[in-house]
Amino acid sequence: MSASAPTESLTPPRVLLTHHLRQLKLPTVLREYEKVALEAARDGQDHVRYLLRLVELELIDRERRMVERRIRAARFPAIKSFDTFDFTAIPSLNKPLVLELARSEYVVARENIIALGNSGTGKTHVCLALGLAACQRGLSVAFTTAAGLVHQLMEARDEKRLLRLQAQLSTVKLLIIDELGYVPLSQTGAELLFEVFSQRHERGSTIVTSNLPFDEWTSVFGNQRLTGALLDRLTHHVHILEMNGESYRLKQSKARHRKEPASSAEPLVNPETGEITPT
Ligand code: ADP
Ligand code: MG
Repeated sequence: MSASAPTESLTPPRVLLTHHLRQLKLPTVLREYEKVALEAARDGQDHVRYLLRLVELELIDRERRMVERRIRAARFPAIKSFDTFDFTAIPSLNKPLVLELARSEYVVARENIIALGNSGTGKTHVCLALGLAACQRGLSVAFTTAAGLVHQLMEARDEKRLLRLQAQLSTVKLLIIDELGYVPLSQTGAELLFEVFSQRHERGSTIVTSNLPFDEWTSVFGNQRLTGALLDRLTHHVHILEMNGESYRLKQSKARHRKEPASSAEPLVNPETGEITPT
């Protein structure tokens, strides 16, 4: 680096510092160093504390950026969390188990989850929330539907990049396959999907949601032997979420149409006039 030395000595230190911090990929230090320096001077902090503060800010930001990257890479169709999930709407669902799963330990332990239930009971919501929680723990996640995944696999096979896609699918820590069972699969589709489960077995976690009970899965895969082998792998280390109940969407729209007045014991307050109508 002797060639750059004469130039460096002529360059103002701030310009060099900006350059070096960019090269070291420390954007938060770059953004904050002057502000934090003023604060340190005001509070009489020494250089070590000043440096510590800056490094801490960089670490916090780096973690946030990593989580954001994980969320983008997961390709969730929507961002949902347990904060907006009403457990009372689905009494068949084991709430303590779900809250335990939200800690993402099952991903570290490479266990699977299967959520079963009729349409509209929150299966997609729950697996999106579990996926988000795993991203927040810094784990890699991929979200897809069964039909979408089969489509992707077939396309990759036709374009001679199946091995690469399979490698990607087997290394992600959590693979979420939503809506298994809505469409029956072709024989090739079923075999390709089976390979995904097979390659992930004990290597990563898989979440599957389905509107069909296990004994009807053969109708999706069209082959009893394949279905048996698949269930064998998938249910080896598995948490089952029972999600049968009334459709949440249907219940909401019914509630909207019912327009139940005077059902609560609270007096009704007109927001414009402040007038109170006793119930
Ligand atoms: P499923 O995948 O089982 O068909 P979804 O997860 O797509 O059901 O749920 C349908 C809609 O209802 C979504 O917008 C979802 O966020 C909402 N929903 C379902 N169950 C609940 C719940 N218990 N609390 C809050 N929202 C819910
Ligand atoms: Mg769904």
